[in-house]
Amino acid sequence: MTQFIPFNSIDTAYLETKLEQELASTRETIQKLEKESISSWDMIISPLQQRLYLLNQVWGIVGHLQGVKDSPELRSLHEKYLPVLTELYVNLGQNKQLYKHIQKIKDTEFGALNPEQQKVIDNELRDFRLSGITLPEDKQQLFKQIQNQLSELSTKFEHNVLDSTDSYAKYVTKDDLAGVPEDSLALYQALAAQDGKDGYKISLHMPSYLPVMQFASNRKLREELYQAYSTRASELSNEGKFDNSNLIREILRLRQQKAELLDFANYAELSLYNKMAETPKQVLDFLYSLADKSRPYAENDWQQLQQFARDTDGIEKLEAWDVAYYSEKLQLHKYSYSSNELKQYFQLPRVFDGLFALIHQLYNIEFRPNQNIPVWHPDVTTYDVVLNGAITGHIYFDLYAREGKQPGAWMNSAQDRSVTASETRLPIAYIICNFTKPVGEKPSLLTFDDVQTLFHEMGHGLHHLLTVINNSSISGINGVEWDAVELPSQFMEYFAWDYSILAKLTAHIDSGQVLPRELFDKVLASRYYQSGMQTLRQLEFAIFDLLLHSNFDYAKGNYLELLDKLRREIAVVIPPAYNRFPNSFAHIFAGGYAAGYYSYKWAEVLACDVFSVFDGINGDELSKLGDKFRTLILSQGGIRPMMENFKAMMGREPQIDALLKYSGMN
Ligand SMILES: [Zn+2]
Repeated sequence: MTQFIPFNSIDTAYLETKLEQELASTRETIQKLEKESISSWDMIISPLQQRLYLLNQVWGIVGHLQGVKDSPELRSLHEKYLPVLTELYVNLGQNKQLYKHIQKIKDTEFGALNPEQQKVIDNELRDFRLSGITLPEDKQQLFKQIQNQLSELSTKFEHNVLDSTDSYAKYVTKDDLAGVPEDSLALYQALAAQDGKDGYKISLHMPSYLPVMQFASNRKLREELYQAYSTRASELSNEGKFDNSNLIREILRLRQQKAELLDFANYAELSLYNKMAETPKQVLDFLYSLADKSRPYAENDWQQLQQFARDTDGIEKLEAWDVAYYSEKLQLHKYSYSSNELKQYFQLPRVFDGLFALIHQLYNIEFRPNQNIPVWHPDVTTYDVVLNGAITGHIYFDLYAREGKQPGAWMNSAQDRSVTASETRLPIAYIICNFTKPVGEKPSLLTFDDVQTLFHEMGHGLHHLLTVINNSSISGINGVEWDAVELPSQFMEYFAWDYSILAKLTAHIDSGQVLPRELFDKVLASRYYQSGMQTLRQLEFAIFDLLLHSNFDYAKGNYLELLDKLRREIAVVIPPAYNRFPNSFAHIFAGGYAAGYYSYKWAEVLACDVFSVFDGINGDELSKLGDKFRTLILSQGGIRPMMENFKAMMGREPQIDALLKYSGMN
């Protein structure tokens, strides 16, 4: 029986007690292992992994709750223990006794271990090297200090973005919101009511911000919101209280220093060391060549948009806050449907049923509601994941936006699969989104983007849940290369573009009608709408990230100038000078994507390529292919390099053709 996290009863005091207990046991275990005279898997790795598994699980709850239900108490708990945990891991990474034990296991017992154990030993030795074990004493101290500082600065960066986002509120009248659809108006009204006010409240959270940018004919309002959004966490907002500018410089300085300590020329080289891609140059070549191919398409997109705004409203200079608005209008004009019209077909419960049916056909997986699993908020739903009649894992869905919840969508592990001689722990996944919460009796309506997001996160969830690897450090998505980890998620997204699948998950909110083929054909025709501009935007972020970490002088250089220069080279939309996008670029300054943002495009190559085999396949053939994908890719965890999984599935190396085809650029 799975022991579930008692979300309905835990508070910060409980978490603190648990953390203290696990920390004490972990320290005790480490001390005992240091003195252990026998170097073997059973005497060293097994007890160490067991302790760290339990410690990580409690720490994971803290991080999870901060993402979905932040509070001052949780934040101070996190701030108190983050340095403690960081220090423990840094010390562990520089623990010479343990390193000697593991090196000795490699030299003596290795041949007798099973493949999972061998992979774990090799990973451990690699990680030891990367955590500075071979450094002389004084440099080890410095290394430790850098790790601690980086970890604190990242947390601070993230808090600044959230606080700056949360601090904004604009109260407007219905007249100010001309053009905005009814369901968004209801949301703004509900937000104002929560503050005990009449009228309409707009916040900078995506479900609130986006409808104004897409639909409000009030140009001044769009400009004001755009400015607020694009200056979050900078010296230009909140009187600089949440400014991330200095944090960015400091983070870059420390990362470079860390890379040099480990004998890498720069942080990008260090970052790529355990990724699928090999060198910064290889990645930059890949990105720039894609930029070259997409540039003509992007220029064409931009010209059409400018022309359209001029013809429609006499706009002489198209500004950044006009892009979403006229893009929406031009899309409507060209393809005569609006994303809002389309949205009426995507009722959340129906979409869910359709997604579950697809997953069942592909992988023979069922989701069975299990209301006995405790949750942290009444909106959360929970399921058992059943394969061939046996429960193989569990999943939580927390889908609606609310105050105190981080924006965006993500999948995370509540528990990793771990099977040892003494116990079996099944994988448990969190799927977190920020969809618009239903207002009144009507179910939540998703945009088509939301639907793709849900498919995407389910792809990650399945990667986590369908693993057959028993060792937790390489089960699920653990130990998978960063630049390959988006393969299963992006692969799932492509299914949202298949009409036979979409038909099953749509029903018009009023008429109950399935998404008409005619409307779908328009959606399909618009699939490549502005794909040049969108691709270039992604490439702009990816190249900026890689340049910052490989070819940028943090001491003398100005990162805004670097971005500006890059935009002039490759972008077609140049934002106003006050735009401070890097200040809220949490992916690379607070998340794990530093010198790794390119991973999205990299994995897209793999995902498109695999999907091209599934495209147009139905029935038993589809189930057979799904089974192959589950066996050769989804279930493999980090036991072998993704390139090997890929080749086992496809019988060849990845090719870029499918990416160009599915981006409409062939
Ligand atoms: Zn993803």
